Amino acid sequence: MEEKQLLMIPGPTPVPQSVLLAGARPMINHRGPEFKAAIEECTAGLKRVFKTKHEVFILTCAGTGGLEAAVVNMLSPGDKVLSVSIGVFGDRFAAIASTYGVNVEKLAFDMGTAADPKKIEERLKADAGKEIKAVFVTHNETSTGVTNDLKAISAIVREHGALLLVDAVSSMLAMECDMDGWRLDVVVAGSQKAFMIPPGLSFVAINDRAAEAMKTAKIPRFYFDLGKARDYLATGETPWTPAVPLVLQLREALRLLEKEGLDNCLKRHARLARATRAGVKALGMKLLADEKVASNAVTAVRKPDGIDVSALRKLMREKYGVVLAGGQGSLKNEIFRIGHLGLVNEGDIVAALGLLGLGLKGLGMKVDPGAGASAALQVLGE
Ligand code: PLP
Repeated sequence: MEEKQLLMIPGPTPVPQSVLLAGARPMINHRGPEFKAAIEECTAGLKRVFKTKHEVFILTCAGTGGLEAAVVNMLSPGDKVLSVSIGVFGDRFAAIASTYGVNVEKLAFDMGTAADPKKIEERLKADAGKEIKAVFVTHNETSTGVTNDLKAISAIVREHGALLLVDAVSSMLAMECDMDGWRLDVVVAGSQKAFMIPPGLSFVAINDRAAEAMKTAKIPRFYFDLGKARDYLATGETPWTPAVPLVLQLREALRLLEKEGLDNCLKRHARLARATRAGVKALGMKLLADEKVASNAVTAVRKPDGIDVSALRKLMREKYGVVLAGGQGSLKNEIFRIGHLGLVNEGDIVAALGLLGLGLKGLGMKVDPGAGASAALQVLGE
């Protein structure tokens, strides 16, 4: 049943047909007028998505490359940063900076919980000498399905004066991320998440405070030099050969998103996430995250007693064509994750929860297999 899969992982996500077709065309010159028109349209569209009037760069790389670009363009070896982590991706942001000789202080919170803004405030208030140059935050921690209160954290960081670098790889378009309104300095997103295009592009936005910091940042950089990206973008090009088909796919996806309406896209994600959580609970399972901080992009579900996560995922994939994600890091065998971002609708959620009921029953759990789909339908019908 390889041909018909319900891909319910938190990226890569399914891709709409018109987006697939936008990439399936004869190659064009990446230094010609067609590409110039495409990258200019994409950059303008991304500014609307990020809610920023500042600069946005399209890089050919994974989301991790975008995070690396943020680090190397903003900091110097020896700079002190406070890296807030609530899971695997928060840890990765810190690891990138450590690799480049940045002096990283980690402020970690338990997996499954959100960062406590008060703890961040306490730490920044204790930094009377203003040694902390930047704060790193993951907006949506994909490994645990928890969303941080970025608006509150940003207000605290601005009070201190440090730069705020945000990993919005899995949050952008799945939940509100208002770069200028919340005064975020650097925001990184990735193509394979709610943008509905294949993996391979990362988007890095920088405001004017970040542009100032870039002038004095001394970490060596070449491929990820945003100064070069800026110079080339002024002529409608990128410094290096970009993933041309992905840029054309991005243009099509942004057109689809504008048609849906960016606010409607956010509302859709919120509604489908609510329905997913209701369905999971109705199947007798527990959510990892408190619902107040639960993500609109991905739901992390605690392993039910007596159920093996890999056996459940295997059965779901092989028998029902539903692809679920496992846990990461220390949660590897403790949770599974249901992605609901990008090209996802009511039917996908109801089908996934209905089939999950069958899967759980098939593995011996005493459960009404239709309870999850039914609870989801209740939410969707409200
Ligand atoms: N940050 C977050 C929050 C993510 O969810 C991911 C990928 O899942 C990344 C960073 C890394 O992105 P990539 O796998 O494209 O390098």
